Amino acid sequence: MAKKVSCDDCTGLCCRYFALPIETPEDKEDYDDIRWYLCHKDITVFVEDDDWYINIKNKCKHLTDSGHKCKIYDKRPKICRGYRTHDCDLIEGEYDYELHFTNDKQMEEYMKIKFGSNANKNGKRKKKKAKKK
Ligand code: SF4
Ligand code: SF4
Repeated sequence: MAKKVSCDDCTGLCCRYFALPIETPEDKEDYDDIRWYLCHKDITVFVEDDDWYINIKNKCKHLTDSGHKCKIYDKRPKICRGYRTHDCDLIEGEYDYELHFTNDKQMEEYMKIKFGSNANKNGKRKKKKAKKK
């Protein structure tokens, strides 16, 4: 049975990041692009149900510093309204990631296993931004 939690006991964990789907990497260059995302501060990448996501740790500007409440609660976006406490971020250990990368080194090691030891030898490729969905 799901553990009961209360937002009153929380510092607004669900308001301190957002995650976006990214394209499933297919080749070495795609994985290397993800390694580049992971070179940046407060970025992680995870795979859940075969879907890849980039996670950006960045506090919502509407979360108060003291009290950790939503300043626009009555007008908060739909995605916030749909979020439920029964499987929220306050419940530890409930995530079921197939893969979880917290830094570029982890991706480098993963690429070595997946593509062999010359995983870093890519051709010239321009930096590209994550595609918006
Ligand atoms: S929904 Fe969960 S993570 Fe979000 S503020 Fe409430 S208790 Fe915290
Ligand atoms: S709008 Fe309010 S509920 Fe939504 S993320 Fe920001 S602080 Fe949290």
